[in-house]
This record gives sequence, C-alpha cells and structure tokens, in this order.
Amino acid sequence: MFLLENIIRENISLMKAYSSARDEYKGEARIFLDANESAFGSLTIENYNRYPDPYQLKVKQKLSDIKQVSIENIFLGNGSDEAIDLIFRAFCEPAKDNVILLPPTYGMYQVAAQLNNIETIEIELSTEFDIDVEKILSAVNEHTKLIFVCSPNNPSGNQIADNKIVNLLNNFSGIVVLDEAYIDFASSPSFLDRLLEFENLIVLQTFSKAWGMAALRVGMAFSSKAIIQIFNKIKPPYNINELSQQKVLQALEFFPKLRNIIEDIKQQRVFLNSELKKFDFVLKIYPSDANFLLLNVENAVEIYNFLSKNGIIVRNRSNMPNCKSCLRITVGTKAENLELISVLANYSILKKNKNLTFN
Ligand SMILES: *Cc1c(COP(=O)(O)O)cnc(C)c1O
Repeated sequence: MFLLENIIRENISLMKAYSSARDEYKGEARIFLDANESAFGSLTIENYNRYPDPYQLKVKQKLSDIKQVSIENIFLGNGSDEAIDLIFRAFCEPAKDNVILLPPTYGMYQVAAQLNNIETIEIELSTEFDIDVEKILSAVNEHTKLIFVCSPNNPSGNQIADNKIVNLLNNFSGIVVLDEAYIDFASSPSFLDRLLEFENLIVLQTFSKAWGMAALRVGMAFSSKAIIQIFNKIKPPYNINELSQQKVLQALEFFPKLRNIIEDIKQQRVFLNSELKKFDFVLKIYPSDANFLLLNVENAVEIYNFLSKNGIIVRNRSNMPNCKSCLRITVGTKAENLELISVLANYSILKKNKNLTFN
C-alpha cells in the first residue's frame, strides 16, 4: 500500500519553503519595491530586471490545455534532470534508502543517486530490453523508495508494455518514476491519461527532444497534487528563467505544428532503418519507438571512428549491459541521414577491399 507519509523524508516533510517576494504578494501593483530588483531596467534591448514567475503559471495553463492535466498536477524543472534530482531529495534518505534501476538505461538516474548518496539496485533488462516485473518486485526491500522505468527506453528505444508498468504501480509501495522523454515518437499513448489512477506515479517528459528546445532546459513532471506540492516546496524559487518561460510558451502556441515534425522524424526513422539494414556489418537494428536507433554492428569502435573521421558523431553504447558492439544513432534530417548512409557505404567498400587504415 502506498502512503505518501511513509515515503517522504522527515526533514522534507518538516521543512518550510522559502517565501519569495512573489509568494508574499501575488497581485498587480503600480510600483514594486519588494524584491531588491533593479528598477532601472537592463542593459539589453529587452528588460530582464524582474524575477520570473516562480510557478510558471502561463506555461502551465497552456500545457494543462494541451496535455489535459490540471495545473496542480504539473511541475516544471530546469530540465528533467532537475526533477530527477528533486525526486531523490524528497524521498530518499542518504546512506539508508535505495532505488531500483533497470540498465541499460538513462545515465542520470545513477548520477543523481550517487550525488544524493543513495544505493542503487540494478536489475538488468532482458536481451530484448524488456522488464521482468517479478524479478524487480522481489528485489524490493524496506528501504526501496523508487523504481525508475524509462519508456521508450534510452538507449534501446523500446516501449515497456502498459500492463507491466501497471503491475509495478499496483504492487510497489514506493514511487514508480516513468520517464517518457521519447513518448512523442512512440506507438502507445502516454501514461498521463491514467495519472490520477495511481498515487505513486510520477511521469517525466521534456521539451528537449520532440519539442526541439534542449537549450532552454525545461522538463516536466506530472504527478498527484500532493507530490507536486512537495516539489514546489523544495525547488529553487525561480528555477525556470524568464527567457525559457517565454520561449516555451511560444512553442506551446504552435503545438499543432509539432505533429508534422514528429511525423517527419518517424518517417526518417523508417528510412534510416531500411537503409542501414542493407549493410552486412549491421547485424541487428532494435525496434525503436524513439528518435534514435540502436544497432548491433560487427565492429562498433571501428565504425564509430570511421564516422567520426568523416565528421559524423554517433554514440557508442557498447559498454552498457546487453549492448555489446552497439551504436546509438539519432535520427537526423533527410540530408543528414543520406550523408550518414553514404559515409557508411564508403566504409563498406573500404572494408571489402581491406583498405582500412584508420584505426
Ligand atoms: C534526453 C533525456 C531526458 C531529457 O533530459 P532534460 O534534462 O529534460 O534535457 C530525460 N530522460 C531521458 C531518458 C532522456 O534520454
């Protein structure tokens, strides 16, 4: 049984939030002399002399319309990375609690765990990168606070079946963090539609991938009102800067166009897949619900180096569990993908002629 008071750290439960000037006076006024900002404007053309909205309500209102989730169920972070860190800080007692990770997966869960001095229990995904619910649940002990599930998973690209995630949610008395960074490219819908069914679910999404706004550093966490209130209490007061809020709001206003971009990326994913599988050094391409492909190749290091010498950088994921000799390739534009294919075709010819002198 999930009970938030059993999960939250005592110091977090007891702490009082910082009260900013904008917390203490929220209305409109003629003259604001309460926050020690400069009343003299900025040196830039536009003025940035006032602190931004600490709760990003304009962005959240628009997001709430688009995602069909109430504002009270939305948290915005300085990237998903901030949300991940706050989740550890809110729920995991350093040097005492642990979390379950399912490698190969996104590296930041491990980094945030170490940063917060939290033990990680690793349950590897299968060779096809699926989760084993029984095995995960049997690894849970009294100090296990979180299970991180990345779906579609980075670096494998596959989505985890809904019933398995529901099974975890129903049988774990801690929190399931479901990272949906790549959900816009996936075939099955987001768990956001079912957010209110589960008190122990946190869904993470981001503006860094499909939305194309990685430079702005804005991530989303969706959860129960009670959990969102905890994040709002412990976050840095002005965690999303004014420029990022403005630009994300602008992007949200163009939301209908996003579908076309996602369709283009998915089409390029199909194209890339069909071209890559023609090379005999490509041994396997894993099915992808994301904007990248994981490839098992004959010699990952050699291919990585050849591409890199030709100005194309991919990610060598060979050191991750079940990813031996695997490269992760992000889907680029049509022109970029064509160039990748053409460089790989050169590699193939040189290899056949045993003319490789680039190692
Ligand atoms: C890229 C990525 C993110 C996004 O992180 P941001 O901090 O929002 O840029 C989150 N989770 C996974 C699995 C990712 O691959």
